[in-house]
Order: sequence, then C-alpha cells, then structure tokens
Amino acid sequence: MNSIRLRLIALFMAVTTATLGIFAFYEQTLLRRDLENRFLALQDDVSTRLEQSLAQPVWDMDQSVIKAKLEAAMIPLEVQAVYFFTPDQQGPVASMDRALSNNHQSTRARDIANEVVKEIQIFPPLQVDETRRKTSIGKVVVYFSRAQINQALADALLRRVLEVLVVNALLLIVLLFSLRLVFVPLRGLRDGLRALASNEAADLQELPRTHRVEFDEVINSFNSTLRKVKTVISRHRFAETAAQEATRAANEALAQVKVAQAELVTINQQLERLTVTDALTGVGNRMKLDQVLENELNRSQRSGSQFALVLLDVDHFKQVNDTRGHQVGDLVLIGVAQLLVTTTRSMDIVGRWGGEEFLVICPDTNLAGAVSVADKLREAIASHRFGQVGQITASFGVACARAGDSVHSTLARADRALYRGKASGRDRVESEG
Ligand code: GH3
Ligand code: MG
Ligand code: MG
Repeated sequence: MNSIRLRLIALFMAVTTATLGIFAFYEQTLLRRDLENRFLALQDDVSTRLEQSLAQPVWDMDQSVIKAKLEAAMIPLEVQAVYFFTPDQQGPVASMDRALSNNHQSTRARDIANEVVKEIQIFPPLQVDETRRKTSIGKVVVYFSRAQINQALADALLRRVLEVLVVNALLLIVLLFSLRLVFVPLRGLRDGLRALASNEAADLQELPRTHRVEFDEVINSFNSTLRKVKTVISRHRFAETAAQEATRAANEALAQVKVAQAELVTINQQLERLTVTDALTGVGNRMKLDQVLENELNRSQRSGSQFALVLLDVDHFKQVNDTRGHQVGDLVLIGVAQLLVTTTRSMDIVGRWGGEEFLVICPDTNLAGAVSVADKLREAIASHRFGQVGQITASFGVACARAGDSVHSTLARADRALYRGKASGRDRVESEG
C-alpha cells in the first residue's frame, strides 16, 4: 500500500461505501417501518371488515354469504388463510386457504414463523338486543403472511446494494480519470528526472506542457534545469575535446622533441668526433692530441705512472709532393696514419701533429718500451709500399715524461730527438729520457 493511487482508491471506496451504506440502511429502516405499519393497518382493516361483514350472515347462518365474505377477505395477498368457527363446533364451518387452493399443502406450515395469526370474535348484528350482543356467535381466524414484506425488503436491499455498486463503479471511473490527470504528467516528470540523473541528459528533449497550471510550473522549472545541464554538458564536452586535442598536440610535440633530441645527440657525437678528428687521415687531430697529453700528464702526476711520446716525421716528403703531386702526397699520409693505427696497441693514441708529422702517445710506457714501439713503426713504414710512390721512410724522436715535466718540455725532448734522427741520416729512432 505504498502507492498513493492505491491508498486514494481504497480511501475513496471506503468513504463512498460507508456513506452510501449508511443512507441505504436508513432508507431500509424507513421502508421496514412503513411496511410494518401498512401490515398492521391491513390487519386492522381486514379484521374490522370481517367483524362487520360477518355479523349478519353468521346470525342468519347463511353459509354461502359467509364463504363469499371470507373470499373477499382473501383479496390482499398478505392474507394467507381465513377460518370461520362457530362456538359449538370443533372444526371450521367455512374456510379459505391459499395454500390448500394452490395445492401447496406444506407452504403454510413452513411459513408459520412468518405468520401473524388474528382471532376476530363475531358478535350479533345491531338489531339484536343489547344483552345478547355481548356474547360471541363465532370467530374468524386470519393468517397473515409477512412473506410480502420480507420480499419487498429483500428486493429493496438488493436494489440498494446494486445502487451502491453502480455508484461506486462510476465514482471509481471518475477517480481513476482524475488520478490520470495527476499521474500521467507525474510519470513524465519522473522519467525526465531519471534521464536527467543518468548520462542521457544531453539527448533529453524538453518536457511538453500539460496545460495544468500546477504541473506546468514544475515542468518549466525542469526544462530550465535541463537547459542549464545541457549547457554545462556541452561546455564540459568542449573542454574535454580541447584538453584531448591539447594532450595529443603536446604528445606529438614531445615525440618530435624526442626525435630532435636523439638527432641532436647523434649530431653532437658526430660533431664531437669531427672536432677531434683529422679530416684527411681520420686519426686524432692536434686538438685531440693536446687533450690526451694534458690528461696523461695529470694522470702521471697524480698516480706516478709513466707515459711516453713517439714523434715521427716522414722523410723527404716534399719530394713526394713535388714529384707525384699533392694528392698522391695526401694518399701517402693516409697510408702512414693507417699503418700507425694498425701497428700500435689499442690503448696508444695516434694523432696527426701537423703536415707530415704524427705523434703516438703511449700510456703506462717507459722510454725503452716507447723506443721499441717507435722501431716497430719505423720498420712497418719502411717495409710498406705506398702505391706509385713505393717505399718511404720516417724519422722518430722518443721521449718519456719525467717528474716535474710539462707537456711542452716532454714534447721538446721528443722534438730534439727527432731532429737528431734527421741529422744523423733519417729512417732512425732517437730518444731523450
Ligand atoms: P725532411 O726529410 O727534412 O723532413 O724533408 P721534407 O721534405 O719532408 O721536409 P719539409 O719540411 O721541407 O717538407 C714538408 C712538406 O710536407 C712541405 C709540405 O708541402 C708538405 N706537406 C705538409 N702538409 C701536407 C699535406 O697535408 N699534404 C701534402 N700532400 N703535403 C703536405
Ligand atoms: Mg716536417
Ligand atoms: Mg719531413
């Protein structure tokens, strides 16, 4: 019974049934009283008539007239039977009985509970003298039946019950129609509110007017709320799309930046390599050699380790250029650089010092070790054939860094040794410890 509709219907039915029931009961009571009164009046009327009409015939003992009078008394349907008795005889002298005449012997016996029995004493007629008129000359027993009254009351009750049912049914129809006026728009509002609370609000149509003031006010409020919700949703969606677009653009930019960064790293590495690489021979350039010399000197000063320098200069290189041309000279320089790289250890650093001079830096190497490196290199160059130039030689100056040395002083010793090598006939290794 949580539904207002059911409660209203139940309440309405209870009130109308109770009200109509009270009225029906009241009317039924009035009817019963009226019928009872009429029944009593009829009894009186029949009794009086019989008393008056039978006086003369009984006095005359006129059987046929008595019978006619009894028959006349039977006209109202409420009179079931009329029996006439004389004072001296046991059984009835004359009688009229509806049950007997209709051959329904048992009917009257069954209706005894509903019967009213009246005894009417018959006195002599007026012309008989006063004293004799006080003595009864016979009696009439009349059986009145309440069946008519009961039937009329039952009919009336049935009619009233039907009336209550019909009125209730009509009122129920009216009530249901009235409730529809309320509940149909209410259902629309309920569905609208549900949709508003769900994710369907953006696609929701405004609710139509009902042309009922009470609901239209609510519907107006609902529709304006819906419009605001839609505005908020579209702004939200716009912001969401913009945010997604911005995120996508940022991600794209980030990816591009990463690619550019990677390219930059590669370029930087290439640049870095190029800045310390000799363009012609591919070995380290002067800058590279300066850096390594500086590092090795610092390292030897820190840890007391030794390092040695092998400075070499191609002999009579000017002649190569002069006789074979500059480009052939370049190829010779490239060949010498390759020989230096392949002949030295991986930890040794080979670089072009300038022109046709190369420097090999040998970490953790003493003077004797460096001299043997230089000899190996000298032999490798001298025994190599450099294309159309054929064999060439180179002179070597070897020096080993001492405590308190600078790059410059160590290099100066290597340079001096080289000079000595040149001076003493070239294709030689000279050293200065
Ligand atoms: P020495 O035995 O006394 O060293 O004689 P040299 O001819 O080698 O010495 P010099 O210093 O007189 O000549 C060096 C020549 O090296 C001069 C120069 O033209 C040449 N040269 C320097 N750099 C390059 C270069 O990059 N390519 C070529 N092809 N020649 C170069
Ligand atoms: Mg030179
Ligand atoms: Mg030279």
